Amino acid sequence: MIRPAGLFAALFCTLVFCTTASAAEPASHRMRVRIEPDTHLLEGRDSIRFGTARAATLVLSTRFRIDTLAVDGRRIDAAPRLAGGFQRIALPAARRVELRWHGTLAALDRSLDHRDTLTYDEPASGKDGSFLPSGSGWYPMVEQSLERYELELDLPAEQRGLVPGRLLEEREAQGRYRARFEFKHPAEGISLIAGPYRIDERRLRTAAGSEVRLRTYFHPEIAALAPGYLDSVAGYLDLYERWIGPYPFSEFSVVSSPTPTGFGMPTLTYLGIDVLRLPFIRATSLGHEVLHNWWGNGVYPDYARGNWSEGLTNFMADYAYRERAGPEAARAARLAWLRDFAAMPRSDDTPLVRFTSRTHGASQVVGYDKSAMLFYMLRDMIGEAAFDKGVREFWRSYRFRIASWDDLRGAFERASGKKLGTFFAQWLERTGAPDLRIAAARSDPVAGGWRLQVTLEQGAPAYTLSVPLAVRTASGEITRRVALSRERETATIELPAEPLSVALDPELRLMRRLGEAEAPPILRDAMLAQHPVLVVPTADAAVQTAAHALAARLLERIDTERTSTSTLLVAGLHADIDAWLASEGMAARPAGLETTRGSAQVWTARAGDGRIVVLVSARDAASLAALARPLPHYGRESYLVFEGARMLERGTWPTQPQVWTLSTRPAR
Ligand SMILES: [Zn+2]
Repeated sequence: MIRPAGLFAALFCTLVFCTTASAAEPASHRMRVRIEPDTHLLEGRDSIRFGTARAATLVLSTRFRIDTLAVDGRRIDAAPRLAGGFQRIALPAARRVELRWHGTLAALDRSLDHRDTLTYDEPASGKDGSFLPSGSGWYPMVEQSLERYELELDLPAEQRGLVPGRLLEEREAQGRYRARFEFKHPAEGISLIAGPYRIDERRLRTAAGSEVRLRTYFHPEIAALAPGYLDSVAGYLDLYERWIGPYPFSEFSVVSSPTPTGFGMPTLTYLGIDVLRLPFIRATSLGHEVLHNWWGNGVYPDYARGNWSEGLTNFMADYAYRERAGPEAARAARLAWLRDFAAMPRSDDTPLVRFTSRTHGASQVVGYDKSAMLFYMLRDMIGEAAFDKGVREFWRSYRFRIASWDDLRGAFERASGKKLGTFFAQWLERTGAPDLRIAAARSDPVAGGWRLQVTLEQGAPAYTLSVPLAVRTASGEITRRVALSRERETATIELPAEPLSVALDPELRLMRRLGEAEAPPILRDAMLAQHPVLVVPTADAAVQTAAHALAARLLERIDTERTSTSTLLVAGLHADIDAWLASEGMAARPAGLETTRGSAQVWTARAGDGRIVVLVSARDAASLAALARPLPHYGRESYLVFEGARMLERGTWPTQPQVWTLSTRPAR
């Protein structure tokens, strides 16, 4: 998933039917599909087989017409039940179903923005690209069933296309491109992609000794990026084969989309052209998507009982790359998770076990970030060797099967020899996080050294925690972990030297609700706020329009009535903003964000009453309007400077760890 700019979260399973797949014997499709992107025509024939005779229901979009239908060789009339844009065809018990269908696909709409593309689920086609997502009803999908398939795709010669799976053969003849694919494992539906692609290919022998065909299907304008992407994919396959186990497929393709989308599927990832152009994509989200072939598309989450795959993928991809960059980068990543969590209104919080897929900001905070933090704490507790052993054992046991959080816990219990029921239960089933603080601390000299007593509080009901305390002594810093399982508890630490101060979890190794000083305000505080209010301290119509457009893009909801606790988004021209700050008795514009820097400055502040205020100060209405597109991508920042839509500078206000000073000598 793309995190650095918060650009988008690539979802491998956003579609309507994938959560309903049961453990029943998968259906097998043998399908031929012809697509004419010019006229948006789709024509298909399918032969579906079941291992044993059963009464299945087929689901097809109402934009298609069934031309013929036969069960076990006998022609029948389709009597579809229509609902919600789909037709459902209940079939008598049979082992074999044959049908032909045809219809018109939606015209590809290049103007969709990213949010639209995540929820848009019509099969769409055009010369620039076709995307037929698995939940869109473009083929007769067997309800409540995983599906295997063999599919032949027939396109005009200037087009190339693919579905997830092994490429069996491809050829170009008589003005047509034909390619045949096979997906032998039970899959959660079939997505089909086509476009005016240039294909680059590389054959790779992996660490585990298997042959993998790596490809890029890129639009001509980004064809030059292909070698770099192929290099990166090869590197990720190597990393994860060594870490988890053999790559479970024979191909991996990076496919460009004319719309700014981001999806992952087994054996491929489908990313917008402009996204692929971003320099950091190869270093982050590409690895995340490759890893989903193990977690998500290799082992399937038991959606009814919670999706563990985003958190584990986030931890072993995005976060792992930060760890490789060094301990400071890793701590910054954990701080970003915890600060996002602090920005989330408590009323939006849900237990992690209820997360299925990302639908809004709060579900990302829980399903991706709190979930990754769970794996981080788990590794801290059982050690890296046991963690890696658990991951490998989980992969071996559940490859191409549905697995739940309980199954994951079982694998880590076997690997570590520890009971992990309390640990998983408290992080999965509860909302919130401990409000940890040092309530008191005292030190006394004892024979041979010093005794430090630290009283910790964590709110109710209590979590079972191992709390890191960093003690500064006259002869250096000593870190100790103390057990905490009650709401208030005093721990005793023996020290060789006099303690001067004690800091609570300064490395942010625990999932917890950060204190105010530990979590300085960021844009996300306003973006996720329960009742944010827009303030435009001017009557200028152009500024009003630009400010409202910005608020509509930045905030998940907007309230009209200002209360004593409302988070405020204050947007206007430089003079308006400075005057507003003075009238509210708030601190003036911070140093470094002078009106002469760029065309707009954005920063967060805390008002005297504790509420969070986001200030947007622009040179003119056009400079304000220019922020509407880029600003929502910077939720994790405290301040930014823009020239037009281009970000010049950004950063977060410094954080202040919780420190208890013991000595009269000056602590740091
Ligand atoms: Zn993901």
